[in-house]
Amino acid sequence: MVSATERLEEVKADIRSSETVYGSKEGAVTLIAVSKTYDADVIRPVLAAGQRIFGENRVQEAMGKWPALREEFDGIELHLIGPLQSNKAKEAVATFDVIQTIDRPKIARALKAEMDRQGRDLPCFIQVNTGEEAQKAGIAPRDVDAFVKDCREEVGLNIVGLMCIPPVDEAPGEHFALLQKVAGRNGLNQLSMGMSSDYKTAIGFGATCVRVGSAIFGARDYA
Ligand SMILES: *Cc1c(COP(=O)(O)O)cnc(C)c1O
Repeated sequence: MVSATERLEEVKADIRSSETVYGSKEGAVTLIAVSKTYDADVIRPVLAAGQRIFGENRVQEAMGKWPALREEFDGIELHLIGPLQSNKAKEAVATFDVIQTIDRPKIARALKAEMDRQGRDLPCFIQVNTGEEAQKAGIAPRDVDAFVKDCREEVGLNIVGLMCIPPVDEAPGEHFALLQKVAGRNGLNQLSMGMSSDYKTAIGFGATCVRVGSAIFGARDYA
């Protein structure tokens, strides 16, 4: 059986070759290893292999496994990539280093208040619902410009980029292109897009972070 560390190396090699193919600078794309649903025992070898940037989509789950892993390994950077409720803002700010899923004024303000209280200034992404799907988190593309301005000028958050999860049943390219366009007109440099099935495509559209889970850790068991 292929191990997570072997798959990690394959994904890293694919990222490097996509950077070359699409004319990005080597190392321009950051790999976020998405470890949701996996226990510390599965994550530890990937840390030992040198990976330091991880994504989790639930605050509670991340609180349960990352404090101990941080004691074992230096330099961990943990990204929140799942939806956030404002009553979890305190735990989120204490547990994560980057928040990728800001999508409404209430959560922006709750996070900023918590960051001030805890003396942290976390880089943040705004999640954009590029497919305008009713069940999906994220702000509608037409509302992004005003929301970015609000987050920066009124709330005072450090907004570094945009994030999206394209609809499962559509070609992702047009969604990546839209995110790239909206980020460009807002002067945002970072684009978090691309998962196991489409990270190479995302790099073609200028992704600066790809969020890859199952291609590294294997298929998830939600049971
Ligand atoms: C689970 C998840 C990923 C990783 O998905 P894979 O298909 O396993 O690579 C990426 N982004 C978000 C927001 C996720 O929830």
